[in-house]
Amino acid sequence: MIIQSRQIWIRDQFVKAQIEMNDGHIIHLFDYGEKQPDQDYGDACILPGFIDIHTHGAYGYDTLQADITGLKHWQKQLLKEGVTGFLPTLAAASVDNMRSSLDTVRKAVNDQNGARILGVHLEGPYLNPDYAGAQDRQYIRRPEITEFEELYRDYGDLIRIVTVAPEMDTEHTLICFCRDRGIIVSAGHSAANYAEIQKAVKDGVSSITHTFNRQSPFHHREIGVSGAALRMHDLPSEIIADGLHVSPDALHIFYHAKSISAPVMVSDSLSCKGLPAGEYLFGDQIVTLKDNGAAYLKDTDTLAGSTLKFNEGLRRLIRDCEVDPVKAIRSCTVNPAQLLKEDDHLGSIEISHDADLVILDQQFEVIHTWCKGILSE
Ligand SMILES: [Zn+2]
Repeated sequence: MIIQSRQIWIRDQFVKAQIEMNDGHIIHLFDYGEKQPDQDYGDACILPGFIDIHTHGAYGYDTLQADITGLKHWQKQLLKEGVTGFLPTLAAASVDNMRSSLDTVRKAVNDQNGARILGVHLEGPYLNPDYAGAQDRQYIRRPEITEFEELYRDYGDLIRIVTVAPEMDTEHTLICFCRDRGIIVSAGHSAANYAEIQKAVKDGVSSITHTFNRQSPFHHREIGVSGAALRMHDLPSEIIADGLHVSPDALHIFYHAKSISAPVMVSDSLSCKGLPAGEYLFGDQIVTLKDNGAAYLKDTDTLAGSTLKFNEGLRRLIRDCEVDPVKAIRSCTVNPAQLLKEDDHLGSIEISHDADLVILDQQFEVIHTWCKGILSE
């Protein structure tokens, strides 16, 4: 299968080229027009497939529901926004609920029928209750290393990222345990000051969870977790690009402050993404989804997670926020792949890489998504 376009994203720029795919991989890159293409995308943009490392669910499904039918439906729908790889994300929950959710995810890991599951992100339960946000406080607890060791013993192959409030892990026992086993520790839902973040980073924290949201804010005399994400230019940091969790101007400042490989766009999407406005369950809590896509805990102004689609987030960054397109595109593709240490086969259009591609029109609408060389319906 050979496809071509006058705008293919190769090594941080758009070039005229052809891509040959075989058996799920990119096997050749040719000059534009060199071979007879099977599909000519004209001026449409071909980008590496998007990777979402922080997403709870969509289309009525939440990872904590542990329902394989809902999970498979979600995987298929993700292709429609250009996402080809993702980490189903668990909010704070009981150990039993975490286990049933992880068992369900495991059943779908090798599924070729939709966006691929690259592991899971445990967003909790070891968070600071003062920065719980929409997370259910009854399940938030101090890091419990024996509890986590048991989870690791049974699900270590699935757990890729754990969001931890470093100040709750007073001796950094959990942080070091994860670091030593290749699990990414991301600081989030945290009241830490800058000195605490510096120390946590020294001990193994290697990412910041949804910068600006549910963390100590930037103050010019104590820059907090938010300031740490800006100050540590090279530290991978998630950002929710829905324009609601973080304003377009703050998105601009964030991307401007980060070095090219550090920003990581996430959706942090909820089960109500893709559904009409109304009231929905989020764990044991009720969420009100408004017409503008904002979801709040019922009768509060607490944002509960987004309904962001990846192609729309990228459009917002480039069109509305004046973000450098190279950084914007990298934050959806190669940067999350690098954080997961899978950039040797994911996140860029290169020979031998997985044939994960998204084709966008000039309005950033998805024309086609190729996942492991398979065209989505
Ligand atoms: Zn989340």
